[in-house]
Order: sequence, then C-alpha cells, then structure tokens
Amino acid sequence: MTARVLVVDDIPTNIKLLAARLTAEYFDVLEATSGREAIDICDQGQVDIVLLDVMMPEMDGFETCRRLKSNPKTQHIPIVMVTALDQPSDRVKGLEAGADDFLTKPVDDVQLMARVKSLSRLKNLTDELHSRALTGQSIAIEDIVGMTQRIDATGGKLLLIESDIRAAERLQDILDREHDVMILTRPEDTPMVLAEHEFELVIVSMSLPDVDPLRVCSQIRTLEKTRNMPIILLADAPDKPRVVRGLELGVNDFILRPVERNELSARVRTQIRRHRYAAELRKNLSSTVAMAVIDELTGLYNRRYFDRHLAVQLEKSKEHERNLSLMMLDIDYFKAVNDTHGHAVGDAVLKEFALRLQRSIRGVDLASRYGGEEFVVMMPDTDLHQAEMVAERVRKSISNEVFESEIVAPLSITVSIGLSIYEAEHDTPESLMKRADISLYRAKREGRNRTAYDAA
Ligand code: GH3
Ligand code: MG
Ligand code: MG
Repeated sequence: MTARVLVVDDIPTNIKLLAARLTAEYFDVLEATSGREAIDICDQGQVDIVLLDVMMPEMDGFETCRRLKSNPKTQHIPIVMVTALDQPSDRVKGLEAGADDFLTKPVDDVQLMARVKSLSRLKNLTDELHSRALTGQSIAIEDIVGMTQRIDATGGKLLLIESDIRAAERLQDILDREHDVMILTRPEDTPMVLAEHEFELVIVSMSLPDVDPLRVCSQIRTLEKTRNMPIILLADAPDKPRVVRGLELGVNDFILRPVERNELSARVRTQIRRHRYAAELRKNLSSTVAMAVIDELTGLYNRRYFDRHLAVQLEKSKEHERNLSLMMLDIDYFKAVNDTHGHAVGDAVLKEFALRLQRSIRGVDLASRYGGEEFVVMMPDTDLHQAEMVAERVRKSISNEVFESEIVAPLSITVSIGLSIYEAEHDTPESLMKRADISLYRAKREGRNRTAYDAA
C-alpha cells in the first residue's frame, strides 16, 4: 500500500526530515510551505494524507485544517496535526478544526509510520466508496454518498484487554462518553468473549502479566469472526520494539502511556470509522455482485455467471483429471402454459421448477437459469452414470407431483433433459454445451419427459 503524503511546514528543513523518512518507506511525498499552497495542492485531488504543521505565518495549521475540512472536495483527506510537545491545548484546537490525528515534534519514526499507514487505509476505503458512487456500480448511488456522511464514529463497541483494573477503568472513563467499553482483565478469556459479543475495536494493553500481548493480537486475527477487527496496542515507551513487531503482524495502531485523552479519542474514532466503512463496503459489494450474477425470478445463477464458472471448472477438471458433467433442461410445452393460463402462472411454474431442481442436486453442483424456460446444471466429479441418476431424479421431481398455484387448477409439468460429459483434452465450454444441447434435442424428439445422452 502506498499513499501520497503532503507535508506542510514553513521551515523547509522540517519538510526534508519527514520527507526522507516517508520516502524510505515508499510513500510519495508532496511538499508545501504554506497553508495556501497546501489547499491548492489538495484541491487538485492528488493527496491521500496531510501532515500539517501548526505554527505557520499568514495562515496557521488550524485555519488550513478548517478550510480543507469545510470544502466538499477535500474534506475526506485525513489530516495529521504536527503539534509542539509543550502546547497540549493545540490538540484540542486541532480537533475543533477537524484534524484526524496528532503527531508531536520531534516526530518519532514508529509513530509517524503507524499514523500514516492507519490513515491511508481509511482513505483507501473512502476513495473506494466514492469511486463506486461515481461509476454508478452500486444499487442506490444516493445511499452510498449519503453513507460517507452518515457514518459517524461514536457509539462504538469496544473491548479493552487490561489486567490492571484501575488502569482499565481510567481509560473506560475517557471512552465511555462516546462509546460502549467492556473491560476484560483475564486475557486468556479473549476467544470466548469475542465469540459471545460483537465488538468493533479491541484495545490490548502490552503490560499483561504471564501473557504475550502480541499472541492475543494474533489470536484475534486468526478467528474468522474477528479477522478484520481493528486492534490498538496500549504501550509504554520501552515496549517500542514489540510495538513495531505488532504493527507488522497487522495491529492497526498504538497509543503510548501516559494516555492523552484527546489522542485516545481521535485514534479510537479513526479505527471505528474505518471498520464501519469497510463493513458497509463489503455489504454493498456483495449485493452489487449478487445483482449481476443472480437471476431475479428464480434466484438461480444467471447465464453470465454460469458461463464464467463453467470455463473455470473445466480447466480445473482437466488439470486434476476429474469428471465433469453437464445437464441441460428445457420445460416441455411451456408456451402452452403461458398461452392458456397467462404469464404470471408461467412465472410461478418457473419458480417452483427452480426450487425442485435445486433440491434434487448437491451443494457443489451449479444450477443456472440459462434463458427463458431453459436451465443448465454443472456437476463436478460426476461421471455419466451418476449424471443419469441425478437427471432422472430431477425429471421425476417435476413430473411426479403437480404444480399447485392459487390462481389456477394444479398443472402437470414435465421436463426434457440432455446430458454431456467432459471427455477429451480438447473439450471447451462450448463443445460441452453443444453436446448437451444435441442430447436435449434428442430427448424432445423422442417424446419429451425423458433424459438423453449423445456421446461425442
Ligand atoms: P418444447 O417442449 O419444445 O420446449 O416447447 P415449449 O413450448 O416449451 O418451447 P418454446 O421454446 O416454443 O417456448 C418457450 C416459452 O417460454 C416461450 C416463452 O413465452 C416462455 N418464456 C420464456 N421466458 C419466460 C418467462 O420468464 N416467464 C414466462 N412466464 N414465460 C417465459
Ligand atoms: Mg425452449
Ligand atoms: Mg420448452
């Protein structure tokens, strides 16, 4: 992951210092020596993160931050204020101006990298959401645009793993205003607690007696349920080398003790926001993808998905020398159903047909509605004999039981089925489909309501 970082400072040596470290970690660095210049550069849309000095002549860091955060074009760019150690009130002012995080001069290497990486991950997500909204891939574009504004970072569900209860309660006091914090003093219970509750962020203290805090972190990363859970380490200065190791293991951020209230709040907020964006993005992605591959009427996969998947599966079958069978199904005299009872009844029959088909095949088989009243099923690891058995099971599940509907009297429906199997190295998805189609045609010609197979 690389990001474009804009370093803003009126003293060029300060810029050079930060730029050198960022460049060494493969970040692209842009430079500005005044607030005005910074705003111009951000306005061109090329910046992922801003490192902003507070003390600058003309326009100071607070004013620059306020302007960037009030312009819709630049308000999503994360801003890290670089404050002086002896000016703690600067942090409050920075927050009021909309800053996302802080760094204290002289800037520490580990802190710098953790902040920049953490915020560039957040920026990646917001960019992704925006580009999706712009290209209109999503279902409701207004939804997604509204979402970036709607998602706030309060009301988070936090787990704090800290064996020193007094220290834990002090942190809880700070965080309780905005979030819901559960304290866990026995780190060995972590997996159980994670399984039983829903959290959005875990804070792990590095001063756990008897337990390796990094092991706790890697446990959190291994559990399926919490794989994407943000983790913040709570460290003392001497823990630094272990913190670096933690960041390499996928810990998202860290906070040094003594914990500064505003810093803690800002960091927790960043992680919660990122977690919520990511969750929303995944939800959106899965419904967008679903729409593109699922047939709306029957809920089976559509032709596009099937074609793509058949090609992939055929390659696999060739590679591992496994069987593969295709079954092509076409409802008999379906036009008559429409003509006699109307299109709505026809649709109801198609739905019920799909349901029975799905019930008669295995989970690994892929059923699709290929078009109109034509369906195709792909069956991995299935030879001709097995395919014929499945086909007959499907055929009987259709013909043996009438199709009930609320509108008309029960209907007798039958289906004709054509089979093909993967036989030779030169087989292609097209040749398999072609042979299944020829088999199907024969089933129709020989009287319908039957299964047929034509060898290559
Ligand atoms: P055969 O036994 O030879 O397959 O005869 P058939 O009537 O089933 O075949 P034909 O291909 O002539 O007709 C298919 C009909 O399926 C025509 C079309 O109106 C209907 N159909 C296709 N898609 C839909 C759909 O989504 N809903 C409904 N209700 N009917 C559909
Ligand atoms: Mg047809
Ligand atoms: Mg038909």
